[in-house]
Amino acid sequence: MINLNDRALIKKAIDKINKLAEKVDNLKIMHVCGSHEHTICKYGIREVLPENISVVPGPGCPVCVTTQKEIDTAIYLADNGYVITTLGDMYRVPGSEKSLMEKQSEGCDVRIVYSISEAVKMAKKEKDKKFVFVAIGFETTAPTTGAELISLKNKDIGNFFILNCHRQTPPVMEFLLSEGVYLDAFICPGHVSTITGLKPYYEPCKKYNAPMVVAGFEPIDVLMAIIMILKQIINGEAKVENEYMRAVKPEGNVLAQKIINEVFESVDIPWRGFPVIKNGGFGLRKEYKKFDIYEHEDIPEIKEKIPKGCICDKILRGEKLPTDCPLFGKVCTPLNPVGSCMVSDEGTCRIFYKYRRI
Ligand code: SF4
Repeated sequence: MINLNDRALIKKAIDKINKLAEKVDNLKIMHVCGSHEHTICKYGIREVLPENISVVPGPGCPVCVTTQKEIDTAIYLADNGYVITTLGDMYRVPGSEKSLMEKQSEGCDVRIVYSISEAVKMAKKEKDKKFVFVAIGFETTAPTTGAELISLKNKDIGNFFILNCHRQTPPVMEFLLSEGVYLDAFICPGHVSTITGLKPYYEPCKKYNAPMVVAGFEPIDVLMAIIMILKQIINGEAKVENEYMRAVKPEGNVLAQKIINEVFESVDIPWRGFPVIKNGGFGLRKEYKKFDIYEHEDIPEIKEKIPKGCICDKILRGEKLPTDCPLFGKVCTPLNPVGSCMVSDEGTCRIFYKYRRI
């Protein structure tokens, strides 16, 4: 068995990248996963890459890509007597005026939960209150929401709803390629791919001639993915490859896919920093609409007010890095986040702040 942290192996991989990089022009590789950004920042991978190879973070953090409008909707519901249940990360994301945390301090009933099941248990116990679970996340968390809704489908529970903010990753990758953003290849997300398998990447890979390599989260995984991408580009190829074979099966997690397909259908949805992404969201199917808060409550049109100076949109599109933001580390810190990318552990600004080298 290979030791994934073998220093000699890592050194060999870096040397190989440097050698292969001599045969290519400038290359921009995007990853779409906060965990990949952790590995890259923690182990200083950017610093050891040759000048002509850049690896940029994209829209890989579910909290970050949740729109301000969705956060303001949760706040509107909290103001209107709903109990808002949310995962910890969402609690601190600023809306246009306030965050859910601030609303809680003003007396709104906002509760942090570890899972949708915990929120359901509360709703069953406190029947006189209406509960909303803010359901966020990509393909990795949508099955958990789906499984819970399947178990509730035929039960008499009229006081539990979800604010559905789930999103699908491959469509936003395709959008980035289709927009002609300068981008040569993708390191595909390891966790998402354990669910989706490789299939969603084949079409965009072929259509846009962009190498796509699924990678794990050890430094050697990321380095190997870069080597695989470089080799494809040197050979004039564009194919989907799986570096993370120890966790990702080509067909993905079939059971999780079945749950997703039972409960959700693809819908067009805006992402923070992006326009509407075709098939970028998971909408609830007709049989599960009774859990959709939008079906239950007439929510007024909410206008977004993006904070002045914040460049989260450009960071999420891979056009800028947090260090390009004038507010980074000065006005905007994890204790006082201005934009969504500074809140979650998976957010690029937060990760840059954590591993910043001063
Ligand atoms: Fe937005 Fe803060 Fe990141 Fe700047 S550092 S882009 S203000 S989240």
